Amino acid sequence: MAAQIQEIVDEIVAAMAQESERGDVATYIPGLANVSPAHFGMAVIGADGSVALGGDAEQPFSIQSISKVFALTMALGKVGDQLWRRVGREPSGNAFNSIVQLEAEHGIPRNPFINAGAIVVADVNLSGHMPREAIGELIRFIRFLADDETIVVDDAIARSETETGFRNVALANYMRAFGNIRHSVELVTGVYFHQCAISMSCLQLARAGRYLMLDGLQPEAGRVVSARRARRINALMLTCGHYDASGDFAFRIGMPGKSGVGGGILAVVPGKASIAVWSPGLNASGNSQLGTLALERLAQATGWSVFSARA
Ligand code: GLN
Repeated sequence: MAAQIQEIVDEIVAAMAQESERGDVATYIPGLANVSPAHFGMAVIGADGSVALGGDAEQPFSIQSISKVFALTMALGKVGDQLWRRVGREPSGNAFNSIVQLEAEHGIPRNPFINAGAIVVADVNLSGHMPREAIGELIRFIRFLADDETIVVDDAIARSETETGFRNVALANYMRAFGNIRHSVELVTGVYFHQCAISMSCLQLARAGRYLMLDGLQPEAGRVVSARRARRINALMLTCGHYDASGDFAFRIGMPGKSGVGGGILAVVPGKASIAVWSPGLNASGNSQLGTLALERLAQATGWSVFSARA
């Protein structure tokens, strides 16, 4: 099994190196603009602990919106289902940074994986803390999940986004006007920008995602969340993890997945695998062009899908 997956990963890495349509690297965050679109990495961790790595699987990159999965898990640990009074659970059908639904829906973001929703989650994680402590808590949580103490925030990316994140500041201000942001906009966006600037490799991300493949268990340390909570987070990743392309991602790949504009995707096959891919070029929806293609090939080769009895 493990050798077979490694063979599939090797084939995918070779195929991705030949691809000329690699998408466009995000430039709206200046710190991300200089990353080469030539990168491609992939890590697949099986439920049995087997690890298959390919390409730049051990090179850290900016996880960006993938952090929303870990921040959501932390916020649910703090306030439980009360979170759903302030954030919805429906796909938005809009771009990740859209503001259009917020007025009609009274400042309640559609889901925790669009920017507006993640900013509310950051506000929850900030309660009772200074921003530095809230970020420290999230980093410690991610290090614990990955069992890796080397994971850090890339301060240059955080600074770059703080200087240019006008849309996110607008979203936070708009929600504050509805009473759905409780701390100052500067503090909340500070937490949000720093969580997006966490650097991780595919291997570290796939390790951090293992609790979602194992019904809430982290293999080294035990229970992180209940089986029900893991299942629900997976459901949100499937329906909302790729913004307005979430339906297409479910159709093509059929796994819960969360993308980030750094070009990473974390994907989960419950009971089977925790997977991370990275290629910085993005498609029109802001999701990794080759990362999506690579996951599609992996799904085809293994039969892995939450919609299939095979595998
Ligand atoms: N930090 C990015 C932003 O707020 C995250 C977006 C993403 O990864 N889709 O714009």
